[in-house]
Amino acid sequence: MNSLSVKEKDSAYVAHTYGRFNLEITSGKGSLCYDENGKEYIDLGTGIAVNTFGFCDEQWVKAVTKQASAFQHTSNLYYHKPGADLAEMLCEKTGMKKVFFSNSGAEANECAIKVARKYGELNKGEGCTKILTLRNSFHGRTLTTLAATGQDTFHKDFLPLTEGFDYVEAGNIEELNEKASQKDVCAIMFEVVQGEGGVLPLSWEFVKEIEKVSKKYDLLMICDEVQIGNGRSGKLYGYMNFDITPDVVSTAKGLAGGLPLGATLLGEKVENIFNPGMHGSTFGANPVAAAGALSILSRLDDTLLEDVKKKSDYIVKELNGAEGIKSVSGMGLMLGIETEKPAKEVVNALLEKGVIVLTAKTKVRLLPALNIPFELLEKAVALIKECVK
Ligand SMILES: *Cc1c(COP(=O)(O)O)cnc(C)c1O
Repeated sequence: MNSLSVKEKDSAYVAHTYGRFNLEITSGKGSLCYDENGKEYIDLGTGIAVNTFGFCDEQWVKAVTKQASAFQHTSNLYYHKPGADLAEMLCEKTGMKKVFFSNSGAEANECAIKVARKYGELNKGEGCTKILTLRNSFHGRTLTTLAATGQDTFHKDFLPLTEGFDYVEAGNIEELNEKASQKDVCAIMFEVVQGEGGVLPLSWEFVKEIEKVSKKYDLLMICDEVQIGNGRSGKLYGYMNFDITPDVVSTAKGLAGGLPLGATLLGEKVENIFNPGMHGSTFGANPVAAAGALSILSRLDDTLLEDVKKKSDYIVKELNGAEGIKSVSGMGLMLGIETEKPAKEVVNALLEKGVIVLTAKTKVRLLPALNIPFELLEKAVALIKECVK
């Protein structure tokens, strides 16, 4: 054994794809976690919207360990209860008809893209496979979901990307109508709140226009709910704030409360689009991850969601107009703060004070656990106000 520290080992052996902050997390409970020196932090990042009920939530740990000691995995050649129960729960809670399980947001979107292409070919004619996405969107890091991502900075080192995408400016109704009317378009995919793009909600008017053109031109409406989904918006899924019925919903991040799980929900138009052999995933609906998701999803009820809204209102009220803050954007417990100081500086100052926050573009981004205790939130918000001055 050598005696490198974790940080030294990481930089020696782990591919340098991440600009890490100077923090090693060694344990956590709820919305608190600890570093290697025992220093305590209030976590407002939840591993980028993943730990829905914080670290090591008791019910979640129980559900996951129970399943891990019954059986941890079986292939998708056989049936298992956690997967079937979870698909049923997702469909009952959303009105969608079928679920395809994978392991990540990118994969959930890949499935959505496959669905759209197949739908276009079947219903609109050969070659009708183009998908519209929004500029400034983020849909993942595989070559196809990168192509779907409407930000050149993510594309530039990895050309050529998958063909078949075109981009519309969020809010530009004229451009939307013009591009949606093209003969080869089969779907439009969007985040109702652009997360990585800077925590920017779409306007009600624009979402309604997407709904309108989707009907008019028979396009699938695909909602990427990887970040805003699973209760974070104050509704179970973000699209529910806009009173629309998508044809496809992709989600991941917070779905299983800290285990890798992606899901692509299929509505009426596309529920039977796949036949055996057309798509698959070795780990999809892994029983342990599915047990974790059942524990999370079953608790995202009206009381919890009301609480998410209350906490959101509290944060917005405290931070909007505070000294050093230019604006607050977002929805529910997915908020972006435009600060006078550079965001990175604020993040580091907060780490110093024992609060973990994220960035999105030039903003400070908050993605706290949905059940963060109010006292901790108050404490963290007071420290944010101190650090942005
Ligand atoms: C994070 C994210 C993804 C990608 O998810 P991965 O699990 O990292 O593949 C896709 N879409 C949105 C909106 C995201 O926030």
